Amino acid sequence: MKLDYTFHSHTFRCAHAIGDIEDYVLLAIKNNFKIYGVSDHVFLPGITQKWTRGNYECLDDYIEKFNISKAKHHNEIEMHLGFECEYSDVFVDCYKYILKEKGIEYLICGQHCGFNLDKSAYGYFGTLEEFFRYKDDIVKAMQSGLFLYIAHPDLYFITATEVTDLYKKLTKEIIDAAIKYDAVLEVNRHGLLRDHHRNNNVYIDYPCEYFWKEVAKTNIKVVVGGDYHDPNEIEDKVLEEQLNAFIEKCHIKISDIKDIYLDYQNKIKRVIK
Ligand SMILES: [Zn+2]
Ligand SMILES: [Zn+2]
Repeated sequence: MKLDYTFHSHTFRCAHAIGDIEDYVLLAIKNNFKIYGVSDHVFLPGITQKWTRGNYECLDDYIEKFNISKAKHHNEIEMHLGFECEYSDVFVDCYKYILKEKGIEYLICGQHCGFNLDKSAYGYFGTLEEFFRYKDDIVKAMQSGLFLYIAHPDLYFITATEVTDLYKKLTKEIIDAAIKYDAVLEVNRHGLLRDHHRNNNVYIDYPCEYFWKEVAKTNIKVVVGGDYHDPNEIEDKVLEEQLNAFIEKCHIKISDIKDIYLDYQNKIKRVIK
């Protein structure tokens, strides 16, 4: 499979990626991409997480730079503007607002942390309770209907050294929820740059073979997310081969992104009403 689309891509604004929208889109065009969706880590009002996301004040510039690139390249590539977001009850209204009023076209869920009602952040993957909190939060994200797809749902393998009963239980519950809510799941290409896949690090990490082999036994819709943090990743042929080998090894069937995006655009209108 030649990856010729993405709905998962970042910019310098999150402070752990480099380049701006135009840098990514130019390389995407050069590499014959059909669709480029930009989805930086969402800017949240009142939240500063310095190496994680830009401040909310970045929003207008982000939209403006996207519009400039889109106007320039509309004959060469289909472009969309979105965000990668953590689900939290406390930010649902904010997400609906940016979708409704700010021209943001889609959201993907990337659950890196959670937020309490007082907007303080909490982490996952320490205690047993925290693992289940991660699972509960992404199930809520699926249920909300706000998201085009769930990015790297198998993130909870970052601290796993073997697939124990805990990981099996979490995997089953996430898969059951994805079936129940007709959620789309993302195989994360960027994850293949992580130490386990490159240097055989002890941690299983994501994308996780066990997880995706289980998904492949179901009819859950699966897409690929580039999750680009550096424009040059678009041209990384080794990574492309690694991705194809992973998909083949896990017997994953990749769904048509155009259908999935169209379905989402119909659904999201009802969700934000
Ligand atoms: Zn990132
Ligand atoms: Zn991302």
